[in-house]
Amino acid sequence: MTDINRCKQCGTCCRKGGPALRRDDLYLVRQGHIRHDQLVTIRRGEMGYNPATARLEPVPVELLKIRGQGSGWTCLFFADAGNACTIYENRPATCRILQCWQPEDLLATIYQNTLRRADLINHHDPILAEIDRHERACSGRLFTELLSQVGGTEDFAQLTELVRADLVIRAEVAKTAGFPLEMEMFILGRPFFKQLAGSGIECVAEGGGIRLQRDKR
Ligand code: SF4
Repeated sequence: MTDINRCKQCGTCCRKGGPALRRDDLYLVRQGHIRHDQLVTIRRGEMGYNPATARLEPVPVELLKIRGQGSGWTCLFFADAGNACTIYENRPATCRILQCWQPEDLLATIYQNTLRRADLINHHDPILAEIDRHERACSGRLFTELLSQVGGTEDFAQLTELVRADLVIRAEVAKTAGFPLEMEMFILGRPFFKQLAGSGIECVAEGGGIRLQRDKR
């Protein structure tokens, strides 16, 4: 008889996306098993996939997720060959705890005991002030609100200003802090212009700046 109550290493969970790190995972970063540039910050208020409801929803807390491969969400550490986890001995807590045949208990706690950027950055590091500046000027909650209600010209102008401000701050922070491009997803999260994908609005470069327009496709 087939035992359905065990992991069959089919890779389905890993293909749906890497996990958000929990406090139990702090040692994995501190010991170098997972690097900062292998993480993407999902900022509070931004849209994120909630596996408990199987819907895209504004996330109530900041999350640090393992990045995806290319432009997809398949976990960076997943190897198609053999459906293998390349950091199996040092995989995050969620991957160790998840029982895909009965995920309810874990799903009920997905936003609890999660790590934030500040947990992985030295408290004296000036980058924290830049993260705070970005949060105040370009909050994920405001972006989600504007995007959900964008209708008239004024809404469009506000959303455009926010997307533009996000790009300006990113460029300034990258220049002053001097971090490599690979660190941007961890330090400042996903750029707003990328989060427009699938919304019906696209961001186009124009005269050294940007312009938003309704997706013509
Ligand atoms: S860390 Fe390993 S087990 Fe966890 S989602 Fe990624 S590939 Fe799968």
